[in-house]
Amino acid sequence: EVVVVGSANADLVVRVERRPGPGETVLGSDFDTHPGGKGANQAVAAALLGGRVALLGRVGDDGYGELLRDALALVGVDTRALLTTPAPTGVAFIAVGPDGENSIIVAPGANARLTPADVDPAFLAGARVVSLQTEIPVETVLAAARAATDAGVRTVLNLSPVPAASTALLGLCDVLVVNEHEAGLLLPGAARTPAALLALGPRAVVVTLGADGACVADETGETFVPAPPVEAVDTTGAGDAFTAALCLRLARGDGVVDAARFAVRVGAAAVRSPGAQASYPSAEDALPG
Ligand code: ADP
Repeated sequence: EVVVVGSANADLVVRVERRPGPGETVLGSDFDTHPGGKGANQAVAAALLGGRVALLGRVGDDGYGELLRDALALVGVDTRALLTTPAPTGVAFIAVGPDGENSIIVAPGANARLTPADVDPAFLAGARVVSLQTEIPVETVLAAARAATDAGVRTVLNLSPVPAASTALLGLCDVLVVNEHEAGLLLPGAARTPAALLALGPRAVVVTLGADGACVADETGETFVPAPPVEAVDTTGAGDAFTAALCLRLARGDGVVDAARFAVRVGAAAVRSPGAQASYPSAEDALPG
């Protein structure tokens, strides 16, 4: 149903009293290793919701690559298109301060070696929805968007992080998903409304609003979709859970607004416990009662 083309990273997390300045050493907590990366997070989230999901990406020939493969296999993600490359697996070094604020260094490693030639059009053609993010080279995202469009497959683009050149990509995506910060980068100085983002090319736009939920803009206008109130413990990966849920519902025939109503519940469920993939809900958990 859903093919995710994107990144897989090992998240290496340490909690610190304060983050070190230049030349400084600080001692932290015991360190944790979690599977992460936007592509892998989305694939796991969609699979946990009951979707048939594949991840097209690259990991290295090392222990972190195995960790990521294991996490994907555990929830039934198809990894036939997850390639192995003789380079280090992508890693995110994450220092978490006492306020819960993160400082992150990403070493893309194998993710940076996912090329347009790795994108097999026949593999994408079997999907209902292709999900894209921008933690892999932009040329590769573009190749995937073109292949999906040529095959008549819908594309959902989570433009995160916002690349320097995104004009061509925005013209190729059906649904653009961004948070408020990313929306601001795309529309510097302008009114940051979802409807204004429609002018950049996508058929529909979803702006996520954290605890407030999301706003959807399409040809019928703007619709605000509130998130259910929850006690937020850790918002890491909430946007990935949201996008995965949106893609799955679009693949099953929902309109964008109905898909977003489901996605805000999944996003909210994902902030109730620590971690990214570890906090993702099943379909039943996301829709209690
Ligand atoms: P990102 O994690 O990409 O910055 P947001 O912070 O906008 O994106 O969150 C994405 C989605 O996760 C929201 O649309 C919402 O469904 C859910 N979410 C995030 N934070 C909260 C929160 N504090 N309470 C409830 N839902 C939340």
